Amino acid sequence: MPNFTTEQIRTIMDATDSIRSMSVIAHVDHGKSTLTDSLICKAGIISAKAAGDARFTDTRADEQERGVTIKSTGRGPVDFEYDDDDGKGAKPHLINLIDSPGHVDFSSEVTAALRITDGAMVVVDCIEGCAVQTETVLRQALAERVKPCLFVNKVDRCILELQMEPEDMYQRFRKAIEDVNVIIATYNDELMGDNQVNPDKGTVAFGSGLHGWGFNVERFAKIYAAKMGVDKDKMMKRLWGESYFNAKKKTWTNVMQPEGCDKPLPRAFCQFIMTPINQLMRAIMDDQKDKYSKMMETLGIVLKGDDRALTGKPLMKRSMQIWINAADTLLNMIVSKLPSPRQAQKYRVENLYEGPMDDAAANAIRACDKDGGLMMYVSKMVPTSDKGRFHAFGRVFSGTIATGQKVRIQGPHYTPGSKEDLNVKSIQRTVLMMGRSVEQIADVPCGNTVALVGVDQYLLKSGTITTIEDAHNIADMKYSVSPVVKVAVKVKDGKDLPKLVEGLKKLSKSDPLVICTTEESGEHVIAGCGELHVEICLKDLREEYAQCDFIVSDPVVSYRETVSETSTQTALAKSPNKHNRIYLEAEPMAEEISKDIEDGKLGPKADAKERAKLFREKYDWDESAARKIWCWGPETEGANVVVDVTQAIQYLLEIKEHVNSAFQWATKEGPLCEENMRGIRFNLTDCTLHTDSIHRGAGQIMPPTRRACFAAEMLGKPTLQEPVFLVEITCPQEAMSGVYNCMNLRRGCVFEENPREGTPLIQVKAYLPVSESFGFVSALRQATSGQAFPQCVFDHWENMPGNAMEVGSKMNELVLAVRKRKNIKVEIPALHDYLDKL
Ligand code: GDP
Ligand code: MG
Repeated sequence: MPNFTTEQIRTIMDATDSIRSMSVIAHVDHGKSTLTDSLICKAGIISAKAAGDARFTDTRADEQERGVTIKSTGRGPVDFEYDDDDGKGAKPHLINLIDSPGHVDFSSEVTAALRITDGAMVVVDCIEGCAVQTETVLRQALAERVKPCLFVNKVDRCILELQMEPEDMYQRFRKAIEDVNVIIATYNDELMGDNQVNPDKGTVAFGSGLHGWGFNVERFAKIYAAKMGVDKDKMMKRLWGESYFNAKKKTWTNVMQPEGCDKPLPRAFCQFIMTPINQLMRAIMDDQKDKYSKMMETLGIVLKGDDRALTGKPLMKRSMQIWINAADTLLNMIVSKLPSPRQAQKYRVENLYEGPMDDAAANAIRACDKDGGLMMYVSKMVPTSDKGRFHAFGRVFSGTIATGQKVRIQGPHYTPGSKEDLNVKSIQRTVLMMGRSVEQIADVPCGNTVALVGVDQYLLKSGTITTIEDAHNIADMKYSVSPVVKVAVKVKDGKDLPKLVEGLKKLSKSDPLVICTTEESGEHVIAGCGELHVEICLKDLREEYAQCDFIVSDPVVSYRETVSETSTQTALAKSPNKHNRIYLEAEPMAEEISKDIEDGKLGPKADAKERAKLFREKYDWDESAARKIWCWGPETEGANVVVDVTQAIQYLLEIKEHVNSAFQWATKEGPLCEENMRGIRFNLTDCTLHTDSIHRGAGQIMPPTRRACFAAEMLGKPTLQEPVFLVEITCPQEAMSGVYNCMNLRRGCVFEENPREGTPLIQVKAYLPVSESFGFVSALRQATSGQAFPQCVFDHWENMPGNAMEVGSKMNELVLAVRKRKNIKVEIPALHDYLDKL
């Protein structure tokens, strides 16, 4: 296939119906990067040789060492001619491919990749089957309304290593597909229609990414349909499932051993597909030249040039690639089974757009209208070769973005009507990113991805770019993981401090999830999702962004402050002028409520009516409480709320804003050890307010509100919540005792053990407190002689037992230790510091 120029790509970009954008997602090591490479290689961006040596998609040196993809890269575009049999011949298509990392610590990259694509190729290793990360990424895909297709990978191993018979392979494939479909059924969204993947619909392919071959049932159905003179769709149904061909009678049946047959018939899938594949591969590997030459002739495999001299494995690979080329199969599948931007945005608009579904922006996104107003979402900041600068990379959902165009750059905190987090600027330059290279392009219409130069000054990590004056934001991405592991960094040489501070800013921009903060003590803290994530961040900081030497503390975890009971009395606090009084009570909120708030379902941006209904029906809140939530915090959307339960108080609404501000401040740094609060409902039970507004301004209302929040928390048997990982381990039975030993030493708790069908392996699921997870991976390897590999992903917050106010208790000691580490006064403040008397 020919290489192509930027002009050619630009031309296809206008043909919205010929564009497909898709992510390749999978559990770590199931073969995403290998498969992506073989696809990109096919389309002629890089030569086959280069693909073997240096991986195209794994562009970072440390990825190549580790063999894990760390940042999503490998974006096509792939130019592909597809003939949809409409009689008009092959049409060029533009395929944007995004490989994403499988390691859980980088799942934010998966989220960013899914946001800008409409389809997902889910890769499953047929030996290991559907794994934990398969479920996580698939769930994320469906939540973003991204349509899945399946690639059952590493089939070569079944044939060559495990020497499996076709029927056994069929059973294994069927199981993998079923498992995937169970997940799809669980998380499916009706608006998208049926998303089940099915071999007889052509949405499942099988093959070997490594060897570059693959097929779906459709591919063989085309061949056999032509041979037998039947309809292709009918043939597809026959080539999967309970379908057998009775050669004697020349009839199809769905009974394995029909009357009159002396032995069971082979399944059609095996007879017509797996057996020929099996035989050809084995004949070549066994050097049975007569046999394979004959087969190749019937199958129409013609070797050219140097290929004719090949033998053994190289010959096997080459022949398979010629016969059932993986890239051909997959590109066909992508074009015919995955939606174009225009089809996808019809149903994605509701997930994507925060504003009303009938305004100009919503309509333009829904129609994928390139002449409509511009709506673009920046999903990530990609470092440029110019050190310290970033390309703002994302997708245009409506309109066309052009160099020099004047646009509104709306950050995540922007709300329509305000000026906060808003910049109106001209776009310096629009560019096209292809693997490692960047090409200038004058403009890019909707349905495509683009990178912008110069926008990094105005957006931290993500945001909306629009020309529509009153457009709301495109919803920010929700992550399934949380930055709960922290390290503190300190420069070795004081004069490097400015470098470090500047470096931290850049680090924070480059990664969607990392959070860099400066504590009051001047300590710089980096928070990531796990040990590996933090390690990579530190490496980037040292080598790229700060380029100076620094000392790193041992990793620690974030906690959340919460209450385990309702306050034993109402907390009262008076304003500095003594004329205003605030009365608050704290009570614990159900964990489910906190989660729903964090997911946005019960947050400030949820539809008010729906939200009230959910509170009422699912959580039994009374009608008025559900409607009188004043605010959420910290950061205006955290899992703590203030509910107004007062009765007829004059001027009350005039202090709402001040209460809200104080609440943000209080929930961000709680009284126990200045951690975020979580899961607390504050009831504003009463207040006394001065009649003259001058005497009840922010300066009078904010301090007592904060103090009352603190006192109310301290009166509610306060405790800490600690982050807990979900750990998945797949290992042989004999390694299980090592797994249990390791878990027991670390407060871990195994809650599920599943034998993997057809293998000696067991899949174990367990909960492990994040604070116990440091060094866990290597300890586990040691305890199991390297047979167990864990994947840890943040799962939930868990209340720790005890009362932080009880001096000498374990909880109290933990709180004091955190205070000490943070360099704040070691004693917990006393209740009377915050609680006033009447
Ligand atoms: P990723 O983590 O999903 O990106 O997986 P990689 O593409 O890095 O592959 C992980 C490992 O599996 C590598 O050692 C690959 O060589 C190997 N691999 C990938 N695809 C295949 C395949 O089709 N057959 C075999 N036998 N090995 C494969
Ligand atoms: Mg990879």
